[in-house]
Amino acid sequence: MIKRIFTLIPTTLSSRLFWALFLPSLSISIIACFLLLSSRFSDLEKSLYEHATNITKQVVTTSEYAIVFSDQDMMNRILQNALENHDINSVQIFNSEQEIIAELGKAAPLTNNFLKSDINIAEFSDYLALTSAIHYASNIFDSTLNAKNNVFISSNHRNVIGWVRVEVSTSETQIKKYQYASLVTFIFILFNILTILGVLHLSKILMQPVNKVSLALNKLAKGQFSTVKLMSFPPEYAAIQKDIFDLTERLEHHNEKLLLGIEQSTEDIRRSMDSMEEKSAQLYIANREAMESNRLKSQFLANISHEVRTPLNAILGYTKTLQKDITNKQQRLYVDTIEQSTNNLLAIIGDILDFSKIEAGKLNLESNNFNLKSLIDDVYQTLSINLLSKDKQIDLVPEFGKETPEWFVGDSIRVRQILTNLIGNAIKFTHQGSVRTKVSIASQDKKKITLSFHVIDTGIGIPEHKINRLFKPFSQVDTSTTRQFGGTGLGLVITKKLVEQMHGKIEVSSDPTIGSTFRFTLDLKQSNKLNNDKAPLNRHIILLEPSTTYKSYMHRYLNEIKVSCTSCFDLEQVISVLSKEQRTTDAILLSVTPDEQSVLEAKELILYAGQQFNIPCILMIQPPGQIANYPDLKGLCSDILLKPISHDRLYNALSNLNHTPIGLQPQQPPKSLDTEKLTRLKILAVDDMPINLQLLSHWLQPNGIETSLAYSGQQAIEMASIEQFDMILMDIQMPEMDGMETTNELRLLEGYENTPIIALTAHALGSEQQQILASGMNAYLTKPIDEEILLNTIDNWCSNTETLQDQIDAKLINIFDLEKALDIVDGKTDIAKEMFDMLADSLDAEKKLIQHHLAHQDTEKLIEVVHRIHGASKYTGTINIARHAGFLETHLKELELEGVEGVAEDFIEAIEDLLNHRQLIPWPQTLDSSTTNA
Ligand code: ADP
Repeated sequence: MIKRIFTLIPTTLSSRLFWALFLPSLSISIIACFLLLSSRFSDLEKSLYEHATNITKQVVTTSEYAIVFSDQDMMNRILQNALENHDINSVQIFNSEQEIIAELGKAAPLTNNFLKSDINIAEFSDYLALTSAIHYASNIFDSTLNAKNNVFISSNHRNVIGWVRVEVSTSETQIKKYQYASLVTFIFILFNILTILGVLHLSKILMQPVNKVSLALNKLAKGQFSTVKLMSFPPEYAAIQKDIFDLTERLEHHNEKLLLGIEQSTEDIRRSMDSMEEKSAQLYIANREAMESNRLKSQFLANISHEVRTPLNAILGYTKTLQKDITNKQQRLYVDTIEQSTNNLLAIIGDILDFSKIEAGKLNLESNNFNLKSLIDDVYQTLSINLLSKDKQIDLVPEFGKETPEWFVGDSIRVRQILTNLIGNAIKFTHQGSVRTKVSIASQDKKKITLSFHVIDTGIGIPEHKINRLFKPFSQVDTSTTRQFGGTGLGLVITKKLVEQMHGKIEVSSDPTIGSTFRFTLDLKQSNKLNNDKAPLNRHIILLEPSTTYKSYMHRYLNEIKVSCTSCFDLEQVISVLSKEQRTTDAILLSVTPDEQSVLEAKELILYAGQQFNIPCILMIQPPGQIANYPDLKGLCSDILLKPISHDRLYNALSNLNHTPIGLQPQQPPKSLDTEKLTRLKILAVDDMPINLQLLSHWLQPNGIETSLAYSGQQAIEMASIEQFDMILMDIQMPEMDGMETTNELRLLEGYENTPIIALTAHALGSEQQQILASGMNAYLTKPIDEEILLNTIDNWCSNTETLQDQIDAKLINIFDLEKALDIVDGKTDIAKEMFDMLADSLDAEKKLIQHHLAHQDTEKLIEVVHRIHGASKYTGTINIARHAGFLETHLKELELEGVEGVAEDFIEAIEDLLNHRQLIPWPQTLDSSTTNA
């Protein structure tokens, strides 16, 4: 009930109705109770006062005589009579001096003097004290007779002969009051309970139709139309009932229509889902097929590479061997042509492989310290030897910006490839003039430098409408069958991809009347290595350089190293200047053209300057040099520099001026291999192709290396278990047991744990090379094998005491912590590896996601991905990733995308590092993995 009343706090309609009905009756009943109680209480008090006053007056009247006659008995009787009233506590009679003369009952002690008035009433907590004076009338006996007279005598004029004090108990009146209050409260509660019940009943009756309407609407909302139709309303709500039923009808109708529509749409959706499923299944199959064909393509490429490079290996190897022995001019020309053609074929295969790698997204960049200036010099040097001819004498000028650092960290092989291709093209398509390469800094921050390269030629140029074809695969500007220049049309495509992979851009501008300029940028990292700054030479020279381009290039550099020079146009001018400046001249720098006349004149000048003035000459020659035809010339000059002349070589030549010509110097023996060390070596060569094995033994045996040949992996193991070899040269692709499997088995043999095993592979993909190292081999050489490189590698590895594990550990130390990975899972290798694989498998996709979010500046999603990798990397031993993910996550949370590039790059690099070295992790052998490996 109480609960019910509490729920009736006026929040709902029914509760409001309840309070509207109940509140008036409650207020009326409260007022009525109050009035009843107050009137009854005042009545009770009034009658108590009256009763007490009457008794007091009675005692006063009767005690007058007793006091006058000092009648103690009478006084006692009077008191006795008064005390017979049960509510009288005590009665006292005092004389005029206010001394007690008679007393009955237990009186409270007196507190103050009596008042002079007739009757005084004092109220105490549980009694009333009434005091009254007793007056003496002059003739008490005449009082009845003289009553008339006494009436006119004021009481003041009458004599006070004593006092009466009566104490009347109030407790009985109090009890009556309580009784009455209880009765009224009981009636009040009863009345209100009955009222509440009545009001509840009434409000229920009043609310019933409203509730019904609300219930009906509720059912309508839930779509229970039939239930609504069955509902009945009181007759006075007939109109509402009708409206509700109409509404129900209409809603039911709409609902049916809607259901029909939904059914139709569901059917449509189901059908399109079916077709989507079918499509997605088809797509899945197509994707699988594409992936499979991609895999087959990669496999095919690897095989082709192997199949083509293996015979080429033999062709090149034997060609080089033949070149040493052939003396017949005609035959030598044939062999040179074979070598040249084989090299061209190799270059084409290299291009096709690179292109396929790029297409398959498998081109990974390496990172190493390299000197860009030397690299450009080297590219020029190689290309000038290969591409310049007697008829094609163009100036090749590398212009390296003075402020540009020389050392960088990046993929030097790919930078070389880009430059070789662009400079090679420029030389190929230029008949006269120059090919210049300018390098300068485009922008720079703490971590990376963006370099700007310009390869400028004065060649045939490219018509404007054909420029946009340039970077498309297999496209060449001249597609006619009579085209003058060979090539696959892949060079620029590969170049563009490589540039883009190094976060750069490439563009070209060309004018057939002027030539072409290829501009590109590359992002490289700064290296700790410093430029090799040159001390000023403070020299003076005479320069004979007919080419103005070359002359100004030389002037610029000579200025930098504080070498002053007098430029001459021809030999006569040199001689005349020489006679004037002989004292101040330190050297003559002489450019010689490849024709015989020029070489002869140069020879005369060198002799003249040397003999007459003791001034040394430095020759600058352009390939193909005729110098070889004049061996005596070589012996006369201080130095011979091959054009294009690099700064370093020019500086060295000028700083080490030799007044004793080089031909007369004691010959320095060329740096040779430690043949004694090689003589003691026992090498096992493993290859399924007898021709390759023959070639190997042909190269090794003359150097005193004891070479044993195995024609299969199985045979290699058998031979190795009988005899101990110092080193093994291992082919990778062999029938039955390949090189990697053979290595695995060999490593299990006693004495072969650390024996250097060098792979001879025709496989070109980076991932395969990683696999080769992971299988336990120490190094690899790519076919076709060069004799010198082979011997150098053997030489390196016989003196290398570093074990394979040492090398792997050195690579992995900053990337992966195996101990940590195993500790987390209580040393359970299976689980640790599974967790690691899960993370590593996802990293490639995550990396792309990060790059995508970075490009779209989506900080929140970026944090989400980085946080995910951060979490996972903590439990998989991938310490480097965990560290960089931590940096990146904190950076993103605190600074958002401001300056995030460098941090993100480091993180991505950490991911790539792990993926590149993943195969090298030395997981302890478990039962499972050992069976898989076997
Ligand atoms: P290729 O192997 O045929 O040289 P590239 O991709 O390197 O393939 O070049 C594609 C074509 O672009 C060339 O065949 C040539 O027509 C044109 N080309 C490239 N560089 C130059 C240049 N410096 N001057 C003129 N034409 C050029």
